[in-house]
Amino acid sequence: MDFTVSEKMQVILEMINEFVDRELIPLEPAFLAGRESEVLAELEQRQRMVKQMELWGPCHPMEYGGMGLSLMEHALVSEVLGRTPMGHFVFWCQAPDVGNIELLHQFGTREQKETYLRPLVAGSIRSCFSMTEVSLAGSNPVMMDTTAVKDGDDYVINGRKWYTSSADGAAFAIVMAKTNPQADPYHQASMIIVPCETEGFNLVRNIPVMGHTGSGYFSHAEIYYQNCRVPRKNLLGEEGDGFVLAQERLGPGRIHHCMRWLGICRRAFDLMCARASERVIALNGQTLASKQIVQAWIAECAAEIQAARLMVLHAAWRIENEGAKAARQDISLIKFKVANVLQMVVDRALQVHGGLGMTDDTVLAYFFRHERAARIYDGADEVHKSSVAKQILKRYEVASRN
Ligand SMILES: Cc1cc2nc3c(=O)[nH]c(=O)nc-3n(C[C@H](O)[C@H](O)[C@H](O)COP(=O)(O)OP(=O)(O)OC[C@H]3O[C@@H](n4cnc5c(N)ncnc54)[C@H](O)[C@@H]3O)c2cc1C
Repeated sequence: MDFTVSEKMQVILEMINEFVDRELIPLEPAFLAGRESEVLAELEQRQRMVKQMELWGPCHPMEYGGMGLSLMEHALVSEVLGRTPMGHFVFWCQAPDVGNIELLHQFGTREQKETYLRPLVAGSIRSCFSMTEVSLAGSNPVMMDTTAVKDGDDYVINGRKWYTSSADGAAFAIVMAKTNPQADPYHQASMIIVPCETEGFNLVRNIPVMGHTGSGYFSHAEIYYQNCRVPRKNLLGEEGDGFVLAQERLGPGRIHHCMRWLGICRRAFDLMCARASERVIALNGQTLASKQIVQAWIAECAAEIQAARLMVLHAAWRIENEGAKAARQDISLIKFKVANVLQMVVDRALQVHGGLGMTDDTVLAYFFRHERAARIYDGADEVHKSSVAKQILKRYEVASRN
């Protein structure tokens, strides 16, 4: 394993880091105050700057206008961008679009690529991914009520989904629906592209999440698919292969989240250390940094972040060198490990800030509220732990029989 950062990447990372400090962090007060339309105009202007700097779509294929960085390279970029909640959106490597871009690139027909992939990578449109259902356990998505029934040259989709992130203002959704109810549970569902303007695509509401409803890209919608009719050519991949494609999408998607979380850890850690160093807590001028307990938190956070970072880089290296299937266990390990490190670091940084940490005068409360979900989406902690443990235990079963 070699985690050396090339000279080219060092230059790119410095440029992005400086851009985040100069152009994005100053927008945070308006962003945190929820002045969304004002912020959106600013973000779009920053996106134009990113395009001019030729840093657009770091992880997207070059043939479609991205930078074509490798997974390892993107991990480093993502860590820098994750320092602010707007970073990935401005550089156009945000979920759920990244996953949809990968799906369309890997499985899309020529026509689907021209109609959806090209404008998506270019940033002219956004997309969303609609799998989780309101009434059934998302942790086990083979339990699915949404159906896509063939009718002539069309599919007619019916069902209720929620947590379709960023559906508000998106051009299309990739929807998981049952097309083959007679098949075994893992081959019943398919992915279908549904333009959001289609009749029967009803955005019921943006769901309030931790006290924030949000809008546009920064929102999570409930969608009611009601006799929503799309042509059969909108099928992505083969019929019945929905879960095969979902594995392809969610595997790399998970590592993308982990990379972003490292950036959040880094920002929270910086804020914590700066605050501890400047906050005077006694008449003799002693600061919080002089307290052993705070020193212990700082050291522990540094160790945890470093461990998480090496685990993520190792998983990225493994995916690149041995493929996503071989790295399955590594991906599960980082998914719950990094989510928990993230939560611990943000929580301690918030604690060090006292009452200030509870306000939106720093970005910490936003991270605390919104990133709690890290332990739930793309596989809850418990599901990943159980999957890792089962894989490990299998080896012991074989050993004990011998
Ligand atoms: C902010 C956010 C964004 C999201 N974005 C999207 C999106 O864009 N598209 C989309 O389709 N979905 C999205 N989701 C949905 C997400 O994928 C689901 O919430 C997740 O899969 C869990 O499903 P559930 O909420 O139905 O919880 P359930 O399946 O009901 O599980 C509840 C809890 O039970 C426990 N649990 C579940 N299974 C097991 C098990 N086998 N062993 C032990 N414990 C278990 C876990 O603690 C879990 O948190 C998003 C969710 C959030 C919070």
